[in-house]
Amino acid sequence: MDECCTCTADPLLIFSCSGGSNVGQIANQAAVELTKKKWGKMFCLAGVGGHIESFIESSKGNRIVVIDGCLVLCAKKIFEHMDLPVSEHIIVTELDIKKNNNFDLDKKDIDRVCDEVKKRLG
Ligand code: SF4
Repeated sequence: MDECCTCTADPLLIFSCSGGSNVGQIANQAAVELTKKKWGKMFCLAGVGGHIESFIESSKGNRIVVIDGCLVLCAKKIFEHMDLPVSEHIIVTELDIKKNNNFDLDKKDIDRVCDEVKKRLG
């Protein structure tokens, strides 16, 4: 059986790369904050990347926001491989936030990513 953590299908799904760098974790935390503020619902990228049918089916037909930490674009590439359209794509390093391995995240950086998502969504 395909079990999901807290995700259920919602009209706006937010996926972050959640990578092992500051920008990956800023992407992750921005997705968490946007979910808490009800801009959308964070969904499991690993479920889609793992080709788990229920995750793929739940993603179809919904608006999808993808937040990647850097220009390697891991999250967006998963959607390309799955042939799932992405409505908005945000790249943290394109918001003048440098990639490093400092996991003491700055709330200002998380807010900057959240603001960019909100701006794109109008
Ligand atoms: S997009 Fe960048 S930060 Fe995110 S998982 Fe890939 S390499 Fe890591």
